Amino acid sequence: MDDEMLQYLQGMAWQLCLLAGLAVVFTLLAFLSRGRSALHWPKSLRQSALTNYLLVQFSSLNGAIYVVLIVPLSAAYTALGLPVIQSEVWAGQPIWLKGLIALLVYDFGLYWAHRFLHTSWLWPSHAVHHSDPELHFLSWSRGHFTEQLVIAAALVFATSWLGFGLEEVAGLVLIKALHQHYVHARLDWDHGIFRDLIVSPQFHRWHHANVAEAYDKNFASIFPFYDRLFGTYYNPGSAIDVPTGIADNPPNDFVTQTLYPFREWARMLKTWRAEQQGRAAARRPA
Ligand SMILES: [Zn+2]
Ligand SMILES: [Zn+2]
Repeated sequence: MDDEMLQYLQGMAWQLCLLAGLAVVFTLLAFLSRGRSALHWPKSLRQSALTNYLLVQFSSLNGAIYVVLIVPLSAAYTALGLPVIQSEVWAGQPIWLKGLIALLVYDFGLYWAHRFLHTSWLWPSHAVHHSDPELHFLSWSRGHFTEQLVIAAALVFATSWLGFGLEEVAGLVLIKALHQHYVHARLDWDHGIFRDLIVSPQFHRWHHANVAEAYDKNFASIFPFYDRLFGTYYNPGSAIDVPTGIADNPPNDFVTQTLYPFREWARMLKTWRAEQQGRAAARRPA
């Protein structure tokens, strides 16, 4: 077996250990807060977990796209002459302060990137993330690779403005990944007096709720006060039994999820062209 293959298998083993560890932690937390009902994994939930796990494997492609996109996005930031905070401003500042500011700016960017993903032509790409009918900690992994351009732009523009290198904020990406697993877990926690400070599983479950009053709400990934600020905050209380998914939910399997945005865009393009032809025919003199 060559070294690359061995490294790949080691990486897979580590990932499996990490996911198994997270499964134990979140199941225990759910059991402690909701009792025996939290241990029930119906067939639909097991199917959903399998689909999400396969999408985790596929997400190595996401990672590659992400890395490839960073270079042209950074170049675009410089070419547009956008402002950069000078490095002297950060000299002598403690690492925790730099980290906190980086998270605040990154989440501001993500808030608007996420809101943008909820607009008509970008929605099919983001709808894959929303299509999980059984939200659980692995649901964060349910994301389509075509989303990466918008999400990478948020990270690159935030770090470019701050004058930070991407390697400086790599640790924050890891913190965000752990937090994202947590906010998708089957927990009904709202963080009490800190509910507006850090996104909770209840807050994010409402973002996934398939009920009209919750559509296009709770876009923040880390700091819910951005939703307060921009008028998109929604949390009327317990969300654990609210239905999740989207209208016309696609079948819960890996292949359909991967093809879904392309099928939707083809359908939307066809409708748009038919409308254009209809308008042109209406304008034509009889
Ligand atoms: Zn969303
Ligand atoms: Zn989510």
